[in-house]
Amino acid sequence: MPTFVYMTRCDGCGQCVDICPSNIMHIDTTSRRAYNIEPNMCWECYACVKACPQDAIDVRGYSDFAPLGHSVRVLREEEKATISWKIKFRDGREKNFESPIRTTKWGSIKCASDYEAPSQDAINSQELAHEPDGLNIKELPALKPDQFKVGVL
Ligand code: SF4
Ligand code: SF4
Repeated sequence: MPTFVYMTRCDGCGQCVDICPSNIMHIDTTSRRAYNIEPNMCWECYACVKACPQDAIDVRGYSDFAPLGHSVRVLREEEKATISWKIKFRDGREKNFESPIRTTKWGSIKCASDYEAPSQDAINSQELAHEPDGLNIKELPALKPDQFKVGVL
């Protein structure tokens, strides 16, 4: 469900531009409002929806998600750390979902440059940066040879 921006709500703060992993939220240089330049390339991660302080970003629901026609309204409430989705069907039914925005305090996640540079061993390792520490586990689970399917060895 790609996103779109209500121009009358957007104040052009650019938070959606900063957070979009697909780099498709841009600020229109004339209207100074954000817009999704390429909905087909939207990851549908909704990071922009959750980040927008003006609740200016909504999504176009797919027919399997909202089969009777719909409106999908999103409400981000930072003080409650929740995001709510209100699906309104053409026949008048409504469904409401509420989820936590995040479980860590806003601004508390360190950025990559706050960490020490990785050693050469860490760079050569197949583990991702800060694994397994970031997952709060001692080591990553791995398949043992006796768990492989016969003939796959
Ligand atoms: Fe970018 Fe994700 Fe928003 Fe799509 S949903 S525009 S990929 S931040
Ligand atoms: Fe507009 Fe919201 Fe994006 Fe800010 S985060 S530029 S208010 S759409």
